Amino acid sequence: MRSDRALAREIQGEIEKTTGEKVAVSMSDGIAGLRGHLTSHQAALEAGHLVGSLDKVREVVNDIVFPGKMRFKSPPGVSEELTGREFDVVIVGGGVIGLAVARELSQFNLSIALFERHNDVGMDQTTHSNAMIHPAIQAKHGTLRWEMNYKGNPMWDDTARQLDVDFKRVGTLIVAENAGEEALLPYAVNAAIKHNDPEPKLLDRDDLDRVEPGLAPNIRKGVLVWNTGIINVFELLIAYAENALSNGVSIFLDTAVTGVQTEDFSIKAVDTTRGTVKTGLLINAAGLYADRIAEYAGDRFFSIHPRKGETIIFDKSYQPVRTVFAPVSIAAESQESKYTKGGGIIPTTDGNLQFGPTAMEVCDREDVSTTAEGCDYLFDKFAPVLERLKPGYERPDKGKIIARFAGCRAATYKEDFIIEPSRKVRGLVHVAGIQSPGLASAPAIVERVREIIRGERHPAVNDKFNPVRKRQVRFSELDLKQQDELIRANPLCGHIVCRCENVSEAEVVRALHGDVPARSLDGVKRRTRAGQGRCQGGFCTPRIVEIASREMNIGKEHVVKSEGKSYVLSGRTK
Ligand SMILES: Cc1cc2nc3c(=O)[nH]c(=O)nc-3n(C[C@H](O)[C@H](O)[C@H](O)COP(=O)(O)OP(=O)(O)OC[C@H]3O[C@@H](n4cnc5c(N)ncnc54)[C@H](O)[C@@H]3O)c2cc1C
Repeated sequence: MRSDRALAREIQGEIEKTTGEKVAVSMSDGIAGLRGHLTSHQAALEAGHLVGSLDKVREVVNDIVFPGKMRFKSPPGVSEELTGREFDVVIVGGGVIGLAVARELSQFNLSIALFERHNDVGMDQTTHSNAMIHPAIQAKHGTLRWEMNYKGNPMWDDTARQLDVDFKRVGTLIVAENAGEEALLPYAVNAAIKHNDPEPKLLDRDDLDRVEPGLAPNIRKGVLVWNTGIINVFELLIAYAENALSNGVSIFLDTAVTGVQTEDFSIKAVDTTRGTVKTGLLINAAGLYADRIAEYAGDRFFSIHPRKGETIIFDKSYQPVRTVFAPVSIAAESQESKYTKGGGIIPTTDGNLQFGPTAMEVCDREDVSTTAEGCDYLFDKFAPVLERLKPGYERPDKGKIIARFAGCRAATYKEDFIIEPSRKVRGLVHVAGIQSPGLASAPAIVERVREIIRGERHPAVNDKFNPVRKRQVRFSELDLKQQDELIRANPLCGHIVCRCENVSEAEVVRALHGDVPARSLDGVKRRTRAGQGRCQGGFCTPRIVEIASREMNIGKEHVVKSEGKSYVLSGRTK
């Protein structure tokens, strides 16, 4: 008790020294609580980071008020349709982690419900990620993030195969531009080995030409960290959801968790916008709102501070790299980056190039806005690298940027993952602070959650569990004969709706009636790629609005771009 008070005073002094301002600090069981007023968001963040960096502090709850701080508003109730239902397990959050946990736990004889507040899966962090299966070299050695990363990365070959999702081990190629940088390459090899990545390959010019053709003549050596992968993240989300559903999980979209009922420090029920369901086991996989769920359950011991990342995407006609590509100067920078990776040149499984993401602390967890500054920063940082290192290739051109997107990472002030049963509330498991590389780590994270549940509840095995899921046929991937056969069987396959990506009407209809049906234009886009091409929906949007209206049996004016009131049409012109 005395030492808690002494530590709190010490921390208070440190914050005052750094920010020049005073806040109240409390310490209990290693959890630091910060309260009071500071004059800026930046100062409140600095205070949080400072306290989070202390070894004696397990987590930080940062309640400091500053001008512009967002107030959380609980979503209003919609119905009572779920009241009275009971599940062995409730999962909050339908991002990659919640869905993967649902699928993993369906190996047991448990009734499982997953609640997701959006009208589609993965719409917070996961769809805004760069879809990269990171090597562990970038994670801070010794952290849980690192452990989950090095364990999760090699599990993707099997996971992607079972779920029938595009996944490629493209590797991260680090190239030296001069003799000084060549001398640094063995350090990269050693760092990867120290981080439990498989041994990278030291490449000479002949090897480099095979891996990444067209490099500048001065590049003679490089390192290939070959376990870096890229995955189709949209398909992955649907695949996890479909496989969980087919193994008996119930998924409720458009359903937010608004409260948690406990009795004698045990989970008893979960309040949602569609009623209250009984459960004894609650998995908190709520991403940017995981601290809110912890608070509902009476176990708030960490704060999430959103860190936004913006990405720019180029047209498929510009494909200058095969690997995740970095000169030593940039690779070293991302190694030093304190809170996240420093962004990069990353290809996608669909053949687009990405520059990104940036890293910027923001107040609003819902901030997915893109900015001219973010775009300029990324282009000005990475375009010269490509121009210099791949001189024979077409020059990077801003005119080839077809889309930009942004998402917030769910960071805690310890900057580590939290995957543990609650120390206060029986039946509560936190899977929180899952920022980058949460996607790469997902298979290992869910294995850890499975072991927690197995240890606590000893559930019986579900003999009918089937981990295999088959994806739907994509018209654009078939040869002419196969396309002809499909069109004969279903004439809608012959109506090409999206000319850029060669998507047929049949695929759009299927997306709207799938096991996890699309409820918006963006939902159709994520499932089919219609609208993801060069014209970004300029041609196909009116046609998809018509199809969605017909298939969902709603007026065209009610078809939305994403959700809420994002109507595509505002009224009749004549
Ligand atoms: C810009 C950016 C780039 C990234 N790039 C990579 C990368 O290349 N590789 C990598 O490994 N990782 C990357 N990451 C990190 C990765 O995306 C995350 O670690 C991962 O997606 C976390 O998944 P999640 O399910 O925990 O969170 P989320 O995807 O955020 O899912 C949480 C879900 O919980 C739901 N939810 C919240 N509150 C409630 C409630 N009250 N009721 C019901 N539902 C609720 C949300 O709507 C959300 O869908 C990136 C992240 C960002 C932001």
